[in-house]
Amino acid sequence: MLDIASLSALLASPKKIVITTHHKPDGDAMGSALGLYNYLIQKGHHAKVITPTDYPQTFNWMPGNEEVIIYTEQTEASNQLINAAEIIFCTDFNNLSRINEMGEVVRQTGAVKVMIDHHLEPEDFDDYRVWNINACAAAQLVYEFIVNEMQEKQFLSKDVATCLYTGIMTDSGSFRLPLTTSTVHRIVADLIDAGAENSKIHQLVFDSSSETRLRFLGYCLSNKLEMLYEYHTALITVTAEELERFDIITGDTEGVVNFALSITGIKLAAFIVERPDKVKLSLRSRGEFPANEICKKYFNGGGHRNAAGGAVSDTLENVVNQFKTILPEYKKLLIQ
Ligand code: 5GP
Ligand code: MN
Repeated sequence: MLDIASLSALLASPKKIVITTHHKPDGDAMGSALGLYNYLIQKGHHAKVITPTDYPQTFNWMPGNEEVIIYTEQTEASNQLINAAEIIFCTDFNNLSRINEMGEVVRQTGAVKVMIDHHLEPEDFDDYRVWNINACAAAQLVYEFIVNEMQEKQFLSKDVATCLYTGIMTDSGSFRLPLTTSTVHRIVADLIDAGAENSKIHQLVFDSSSETRLRFLGYCLSNKLEMLYEYHTALITVTAEELERFDIITGDTEGVVNFALSITGIKLAAFIVERPDKVKLSLRSRGEFPANEICKKYFNGGGHRNAAGGAVSDTLENVVNQFKTILPEYKKLLIQ
């Protein structure tokens, strides 16, 4: 492991840098990666953000977005950049399997690898780590890296602040999840002072739904919501045919699960969707209930205690049945 003095010395002169984040990036993935990007280019580095897959249009307005490379669309060019990189920053993930086939390309390079993350159980692939599971967002840790570790608050430009604000806003559930501490609010205040237009960012992210997405949400809530009262659990299941019927694109299913969790008394909410290659699960829970444990134990996944996910190669019906058969094991926790 490097120390901050060595990393700081490395970053003192222009370097070839790749920044990457987890597949199907969300607001924090894009916000932390692009926040870091906008910081590094000010310091004169040759930096590129490479995402393993595409991401929701909700985030395509962020500063630096036009420079982002999507690995699956430009694989050859991405591999060249990764292999030529002197430093690779990995934000909002801590296991190379989270960046799909890009993971092994990153693993075998000699680049210095920096992990900036807030998930449990990091894999040991990095040379420097900014890691704190009590951070509400990876973007919070990027802020702390720039301001506290690098001591370069002067580089907190409007572009950096805009990206980091977006990451913190989305991962903290608009500043309402339990990790939204007074420190987070102070950081956010700093970001607004640095030029983040908070009201505009909320509008760009939350008031930019397509008509189809809203109709799909309505359909899920009125036709597809299953209440498992005995287990204080709510479940929404979506087939591939329904995704096609509603013209669902990347990001359209994001957040649907939260509506199921918002029902009074519900402790666990699941959104299970039939994707072309796999069945994907999104779990959300309240309080101490370990949604990530279920995802890790049964669905090749993981995540945070209250927001976790996984994916399996099986039929939708089997995965839904499996999910239901797991619930008795957790009944005590679910009904307390
Ligand atoms: P979502 O339900 O939004 O896809 O994911 C919620 C959270 O669960 C993510 O922020 C991520 O931390 C975690 N997560 C989702 N899918 C996976 C997965 O396949 N593996 C792991 N380890 N974590 C996941
Ligand atoms: Mn995050």
